[in-house]
Amino acid sequence: MECLFCNIIKGDIPSYKVYEDETAYAFLDINPCSKGHTVVVPKTHYENFTEMPAEEAAGLFATVRMIARLVEDAVSADGSNIGLNNKPAAGQAVPHVHVHIIPRFEGDGGGSMHSIVSIPGAGDDLEEMAELLVME
Ligand code: AMP
Ligand code: ZN
Repeated sequence: MECLFCNIIKGDIPSYKVYEDETAYAFLDINPCSKGHTVVVPKTHYENFTEMPAEEAAGLFATVRMIARLVEDAVSADGSNIGLNNKPAAGQAVPHVHVHIIPRFEGDGGGSMHSIVSIPGAGDDLEEMAELLVME
């Protein structure tokens, strides 16, 4: 078994477990961005979020919501960033789906989702983009 997070789920690699049920496992990030930074992983190995079956993805996010409430309360956070890096181009380092819950505190100096990337010209033709993306 080569996957780091599969090994954590199995208990072969130690982790600070926050929560576990039949489908998901949550643990503290070893290199936290803020106090309480937690990652939530599906127990079934999927490399990335967009390859997950819709039902499992929905279940994962229900679990993420529950844990985010728990974590925010536990560390008295004022909010949190909740999201995932999907595939290596987006910064995904571990190829097993994981959702980050990063507690945030008023005045902590951090940024928002908008600080991840800013490509010049990205908004040049929103009409054309909408036509490309729209689902009938
Ligand atoms: P990503 O860059 O989205 O793939 O995030 C991978 C995350 O896993 C990083 O935030 C790492 O700090 C975290 N991580 C890597 N190894 C471990 C580990 N053994 N235990 C807990 N978290 C880990
Ligand atoms: Zn895995």
